[in-house]
Amino acid sequence: MAWFSRVPVVDVTKDNFKELWPTILVALKTATFVALDLELSGLGNRRNLNTPSVDDRYKSLAGVARSRAVLSMGLSCFKLNNIAEDGSLVLPFTTQTFNLTLLCSEEYVVEPISLKFLVDHGFDFNMQYSQGAPYHRGADKNGEVPQSVRQLFSELVCSRVPLILHNGLVDLVFLYQSFYTELPPTLGSFLADLSEMFPAGIFDTKCITDFHIRMPASYLEYVFRRSQRENAVHQTKQQPHVTLTFPPYPPHMVCVEYRDCCLPDNLLNTTQSTTVIPYCEQYAAHGTCPKGVLCPQSHDPDIIIDQEDWVKARKKRRRDRKKRKGNKSEEGEQDKAENPVSMETDDGRDVSNVEDTDSVSCDSQTHTDQSDGGNDNVVAKTRVGCHRAGFDAFMTGFAMATMVCKLGKLCREADPFTTRFQLEEFANKVYLSGKDFPLQIARSAFAKPSNHHKAKFQRLQHGGTSF
Ligand SMILES: [Zn+2]
Repeated sequence: MAWFSRVPVVDVTKDNFKELWPTILVALKTATFVALDLELSGLGNRRNLNTPSVDDRYKSLAGVARSRAVLSMGLSCFKLNNIAEDGSLVLPFTTQTFNLTLLCSEEYVVEPISLKFLVDHGFDFNMQYSQGAPYHRGADKNGEVPQSVRQLFSELVCSRVPLILHNGLVDLVFLYQSFYTELPPTLGSFLADLSEMFPAGIFDTKCITDFHIRMPASYLEYVFRRSQRENAVHQTKQQPHVTLTFPPYPPHMVCVEYRDCCLPDNLLNTTQSTTVIPYCEQYAAHGTCPKGVLCPQSHDPDIIIDQEDWVKARKKRRRDRKKRKGNKSEEGEQDKAENPVSMETDDGRDVSNVEDTDSVSCDSQTHTDQSDGGNDNVVAKTRVGCHRAGFDAFMTGFAMATMVCKLGKLCREADPFTTRFQLEEFANKVYLSGKDFPLQIARSAFAKPSNHHKAKFQRLQHGGTSF
């Protein structure tokens, strides 16, 4: 089976930035869409980021972006290759992923809580200080360094490709302030600027998950794993799916790191009874847990997804049994009860043969004493390095590719990506935590683009991206 089991991520540092510049640029310019993710030195007071007024949220966030730094940026370029004409909807992508380690050359605030999170997830601060590519915030200065992350962002704007983010508001504010120019004072102007900077649309995979695809949770790792599993099942059933190819990087390219993301062996073999492994409910729902790596319960998305599906299938089985009982007494159809009931999970697997016992509980208390050291090790292993910006960007891009497969309607004649797949209704909506509506990225009648943006944008359009 041609499922991808590992993903190459190219490590970009100040030492190889110039050498890799042409490769990154070609990947960017030929991409159908580009997914992006940032690691930050802090997010400020979390309460300010969730205030009821979205305008106030923007103002706090702008303050945070002016005082904090981007530690790394992940860039994953997805290029759609020719789609077969035989009517089978298989979307073949070539994918290139880069992890840029950055170092803000100005003073910035570092929050202990963010540091702890990053260290727990394998972020290498020594490497960041010794090899991070330098950048400065705000407006362009005289004598800007060519082939820098600032120029790369300008290339992204000029390439007019759709931008894909997961829970992207914070990323957008930081990208703007760190690599573009000084943020405008109001949300209205910021949104007007963005709609000019990204005319092909900004897509937020968290937003699409919450509003258009039913999943029990919508944090990145979960959305990716469910998408990957579902895609693999669709591939075996010859249903619409995504295939990926990666460039054949030569072995001497030491900056290429392969991230393992093998699917479990038993993905299609669900006839064996599910092993009951306690998982962390808090993590399962939100993707975070206050106990962090010390949590005794599993944070492994495969264990979480398996057991969620198992519980769901059991409920369905019980419902069906009840229904059949009802039918039996009314119509006396004795043999109907003997018919096997197919129980399809969210990723399309049939788990009707999975053993039905009552020993599985999702209650976190019940299983505390069942977890042992062995389980901890497995969990710890899967978590290390999980939050590398490059791989997060890849996960975001892959989730988007499967969403295109699922929600898009192919219109073969049309050319730009968004119209070709009729994705207009999913574009330019960004997730807002605690709200049941997304933030619309558009120019409103009451807000004008900012002067900083106008000056920079004009320069990009006429003079190109080099300094
Ligand atoms: Zn936990």
